[in-house]
Amino acid sequence: MTEPLEGTGRVAVVGIGPGAATTCTPEVCELLEHATDWVGYDTYLDFAQAIVTPRPNQTQHRSDNREESTRARAALDLAASGRHVVVISSGDPGVFAMAAAVMEQLDEMGTAPPWAGVVVSVHPGISAAQAAAARVGAPLGHDFCVVSLSDNLKPWSIIEQRLDAGAGADFVLALYNPRSRARPAQFARAIEILRAHRADDTPVVIARDVGRPDEHIRVLTLGALAEPAGSDTVDMRTVVIVGSSQTRTLARTSSTGTGGAWMYTPRSYPPNSSTR
Ligand code: SAH
Repeated sequence: MTEPLEGTGRVAVVGIGPGAATTCTPEVCELLEHATDWVGYDTYLDFAQAIVTPRPNQTQHRSDNREESTRARAALDLAASGRHVVVISSGDPGVFAMAAAVMEQLDEMGTAPPWAGVVVSVHPGISAAQAAAARVGAPLGHDFCVVSLSDNLKPWSIIEQRLDAGAGADFVLALYNPRSRARPAQFARAIEILRAHRADDTPVVIARDVGRPDEHIRVLTLGALAEPAGSDTVDMRTVVIVGSSQTRTLARTSSTGTGGAWMYTPRSYPPNSSTR
């Protein structure tokens, strides 16, 4: 057990961005450097370590990805004993990540001791969809929505409803947690729902491990994604962006390994257009 420190304890909930040191904000890098304790999912702590070399006197608290509320409580408890804790998420901590988990704990506990004196702050990072979008141009250039396809924390029926509503309203859709080994068939079902609203030539980007050494980006069409081989590379390290009716591709003048295509959604709709 670590000794309490003098002064006020802190919990800084940080997002380290998609993976590379260059896309972690200076603010977050500084917090990682100065914290007494790092709290987070094992894999994210590995990514954080590659960005800021931990000091020998910093304590790491590694846990399984599913233990969000336990991890949030542990971070607040540590801070209550005077520690300066960073809770580490990948991407942005407010997007399917730890900021909401910490807020939930605070909400449950109110300002009752033992966490009453803890200073809590949240520090943004570049989310996976933003990082992926930048690689291919500007697919999120107009209205878009972000949907997690994981049914760990919500029923699949709600996911289907949201996909249908989002596609029906002609949003670009950024799909997080798209396909895991535990639910291989659901991704295909999700694509079928989108195809009810979108043409098969709608541009799609599959972005895997963005900003990490194994980055792989592919621009294809919704029709190709629906083919059995189309979604081979889609897994939990991938974000998928499906265009709106307005999203288009154009050839790049220099190839940068993404199939030679830019993908973007124009800033404006053609006059007098409607979604249906
Ligand atoms: N807070 C994170 C999202 C956490 S949910 C963020 O803002 O990016 C986890 C999901 O995010 C993954 O299943 C994947 O869909 C997506 N993701 C996170 N980092 C990614 C990366 N570097 N490349 C591609 N997808 C990523």
